[in-house]
Amino acid sequence: MQKYVLLIDHEACWGCMTCEVACKQENKAPDGVKLIYVTEDGPKESAGKLNFLYRVNNCRHCENPFCAEACPVEAISKRDDGIVIMDNETCTGCEACLEACPYHAIAFDKELRISRKCNLCYQRVDYGLIPACADNVCPAHCIYFGDPGEIEKVMAQKRKARNTKSDCITPEQ
Ligand code: SF4
Repeated sequence: MQKYVLLIDHEACWGCMTCEVACKQENKAPDGVKLIYVTEDGPKESAGKLNFLYRVNNCRHCENPFCAEACPVEAISKRDDGIVIMDNETCTGCEACLEACPYHAIAFDKELRISRKCNLCYQRVDYGLIPACADNVCPAHCIYFGDPGEIEKVMAQKRKARNTKSDCITPEQ
């Protein structure tokens, strides 16, 4: 079974939030619901320059998902390819998963009265496409999806060029 990874190169992110827009459009997330979101830290002064640090947050598709353990109706499950999915039809909106997720990766949809999370766009992946946020929308080229080994090769080259180790891998490593 092919395993998938979504890798976010945080150091490359400049905070444009295009990924948020692509995700909301694909997943029809209403106002106040973000399945991926960018946070900003700063500005911090360094060598006479002001710097901002951006972080892209979404579900890490954990190896042993706390959210799935906490769900009383088994609305959350991990697929063989590593994607942790929420079944919106089964969710009762109890919000136990929101409390359980250590990454604050689950949102509550007040319109539908259910929890919502990144499902890694499995509705696209199952048809050979890639998640909306990774589908060439990021102008900074910081979101990668696919085979873990291939993506690690790309990241190794980027790290070498920058001489840093900064990146974040989803699923959780
Ligand atoms: Fe569940 Fe949170 Fe892990 Fe995603 S990051 S699988 S929502 S516990």
